[in-house]
Amino acid sequence: MTLSQDKVNITFDVVIIGGGASGMACALHLFGMLKTSGKKCLRVALLEKNQRLGKKLLLTGNGRCNITNQSISHDNYHGKHELFCLPALSAFDNQATIRFFEGLGLLTFFDETGKAYPESLHASSVLDCMRFALEETGYSIMFSTEIKNIEKTHDGFRLFASNGNILQATCVVVACGGSASPFTGSDGSGFNLLRMLGCRIEDPIPGIVQIKTETDFVKPVSGIKIIGTATLKADEKTVRVETGEILFTDYGLSGPPILRLSGWASRLFARHGSDRSKPDVKISLDLIPQRGEDDVLRLLKERREAYPDRLIEQFLVGIFHNRLASRLLKSIFDIPLSRSVSTLSDEDLIRIASGIKHTNIRVTGVMPLSNAQVTIGGADTDQFDPHTMSSLIHRGLYACGEVLDIDGDCGGYNLQWAWASAYLTARSIADRIGKENL
Ligand SMILES: Cc1cc2nc3c(=O)[nH]c(=O)nc-3n(C[C@H](O)[C@H](O)[C@H](O)COP(=O)(O)OP(=O)(O)OC[C@H]3O[C@@H](n4cnc5c(N)ncnc54)[C@H](O)[C@@H]3O)c2cc1C
Repeated sequence: MTLSQDKVNITFDVVIIGGGASGMACALHLFGMLKTSGKKCLRVALLEKNQRLGKKLLLTGNGRCNITNQSISHDNYHGKHELFCLPALSAFDNQATIRFFEGLGLLTFFDETGKAYPESLHASSVLDCMRFALEETGYSIMFSTEIKNIEKTHDGFRLFASNGNILQATCVVVACGGSASPFTGSDGSGFNLLRMLGCRIEDPIPGIVQIKTETDFVKPVSGIKIIGTATLKADEKTVRVETGEILFTDYGLSGPPILRLSGWASRLFARHGSDRSKPDVKISLDLIPQRGEDDVLRLLKERREAYPDRLIEQFLVGIFHNRLASRLLKSIFDIPLSRSVSTLSDEDLIRIASGIKHTNIRVTGVMPLSNAQVTIGGADTDQFDPHTMSSLIHRGLYACGEVLDIDGDCGGYNLQWAWASAYLTARSIADRIGKENL
């Protein structure tokens, strides 16, 4: 490898690239650990390409920032090696997250579903507490500093910033995030930096994102929400079932249960690409999950008795939104809906009950990474040590957060991963400093 001849103008012991959730947490953990162990002050820099820290953090949890979850297990995490997340999550669990933020002055609470939020219900409180604590570290925090290039040198790394600065660092932490919602700054450039150092990247695809479907059913009912159950099926086999508020949109489906299914759908499509054997992917909607099919049939029979002179088109009004009621009936019958309800046979009622419990909509894909909340894929975890977050290729190179091939479920799991992986990274660097007296 030939090194560039450009002159280094700033030298650091540790450079953290990315001032998002994991980068900020890594700097704060490192400061806390070094302070506790009475180690000498290190030259540490936190570099952020935006003009401010934590742009994505402000968007999280609909602006309320769901920082962790009461119930966390490795089942909530995915990737080529999802068990890679375990050492970090056991070294720094959800209670550690709460204590960490309490230590920064943030009040938090768990809601009835187990999600933790700041008591202020504003993501800005989370960011502000981190920002103020970072200012107190005395570390160099550099804004509008995008690292475009990185080289391994004999005693560390040389980094080339977009503003012309050339930095030398003994340890480098890549905390650049993935490529979901790239307008926040995490646009996949962390993957490029790691590639420059010879790391493998699992192809990034969207996770926690809206699902695209054939539009003949959904478009006419766009904007309507239901409390329903969505079953994702591939070649008629159930992949995953989720219940909650489902939103019909122009292009497909959205809402929390759909976002929870989306990673599975995304993987199904990515795995098969343009391959002809790609599975037939559907979502089967149960529009009344609180009632069984027999119960629904009984209800329909009662309605036929009660409203025999109404038009069939009006038969389900009062159970569903008017537009959804008539769309559903049109998808079940090709008979005119202007006939009277009394003409509905028992067979017809069975078909309607079945339609209500199993409306099948063909899935055509998922929305792109620009819409996604998380990246599936990223730095191959085969090349990193799960106990230290350090690279197995280059000594002194670390990665934490979403840049690694770990993605969590919706519900505070991705931020928990950011905090926990940042903690292990900081601990490994602090240990190295202790041993080698950097
Ligand atoms: C709309 C939305 C809502 C979400 N809600 C939640 C939620 O409520 N709970 C939850 O757990 N997760 C949520 N997530 C996911 C969560 O925000 C991310 O998983 C988490 O922020 C990842 O942290 P990170 O530090 O790895 O990356 P990021 O937070 O993305 O930070 C990376 C930072 O690095 C900077 N950067 C990138 N490349 C460079 C470079 N070359 N040089 C310098 N700087 C660089 C970027 O500008 C960015 O600031 C949400 C995501 C989105 C988009």
